[in-house]
Amino acid sequence: MGDEKKVAGVSPCTRCRAPAVALVRRTGEHLCAAHFVASVEREVQETVERTGMIRDGDCIAVGLSGGKDSSVLLYILSRLLRDRPEVRLLAITIDEGIAGYREETMKAARALTADLGVEQFVVSFEDAFGRSLDAFLQNPAAPNPCTLCGVLRRRALQTAARRAGATKLATGHSLDDEAEAALMNVLNGDLKRIARTGIPGNAFVPRIKPLGGVPEKEVTLYAVVQGLFLPLPECPYAGQALRSEARTIISTLEYRHPGTTMQFMEGYTTLRERGAHCLEEEGATGGFTRCEECGEPATGRRCQACSLLASLRDE
Ligand code: SF4
Ligand code: ZN
Repeated sequence: MGDEKKVAGVSPCTRCRAPAVALVRRTGEHLCAAHFVASVEREVQETVERTGMIRDGDCIAVGLSGGKDSSVLLYILSRLLRDRPEVRLLAITIDEGIAGYREETMKAARALTADLGVEQFVVSFEDAFGRSLDAFLQNPAAPNPCTLCGVLRRRALQTAARRAGATKLATGHSLDDEAEAALMNVLNGDLKRIARTGIPGNAFVPRIKPLGGVPEKEVTLYAVVQGLFLPLPECPYAGQALRSEARTIISTLEYRHPGTTMQFMEGYTTLRERGAHCLEEEGATGGFTRCEECGEPATGRRCQACSLLASLRDE
């Protein structure tokens, strides 16, 4: 057995026989910490190369909340791009203003950017929209907290990325996040939304998702192995019913039939691209116009963010 390390009850790494920390179900491999880290980073690199999402001269703004997914994204990109000085990397952190929750995650985001030597821009909802999320939610007309939070955060990220000179906005969505959103679009029968996400240039700064090929469990384990997993509080507004049910469906299917999530996303991506192509053929917008107030894509005169803000203005 040579120098193979034996630890009671722990399978050896398929590649080097050191004690394994993970069973990667989609490949059937047991991997030690070093090989697991390498396999996640290779998956991200392959996604980046296959899609051409990062090119020389790009300035990549990472949307960094301070939670594990965006922290893993920034950490991996800083490693993958360390030999590419022609690509600039920066981080944008949006402080939604959620008392008892964001203080800790903001601290984690600041510590990580300082550690990695990555420039960080911080924008609060109060700076961008005049009020914190907590304050907006005092209004009885406010929608579901996560709807408001998500729409305004995306808007704040876009604006900050454009101001910082970014050419791409990278978010920490994992394969599971993408599959959950896709399943929700299908369950909602939201064909326009499915096709719209396939139209290039449908936002100020194109969004990229380098972790889109990595299952959530692997993102979490990568965070643990690399010391990026911190015991952070949970958002007091968390708990969107449909999304959490979509998550359960995806994870159950993946557990019973490894590889299902990846196959679903391959099919969904084809559907999305074909839908976008049809919309372009129909006249480029397929019913989408530009918001009169901010220029973002809209289905009426105003985009979702401007409509929400208008409905929450003091009467
Ligand atoms: Fe925003 Fe909802 Fe996430 Fe809380 S759980 S940070 S309200 S999207
Ligand atoms: Zn608008």
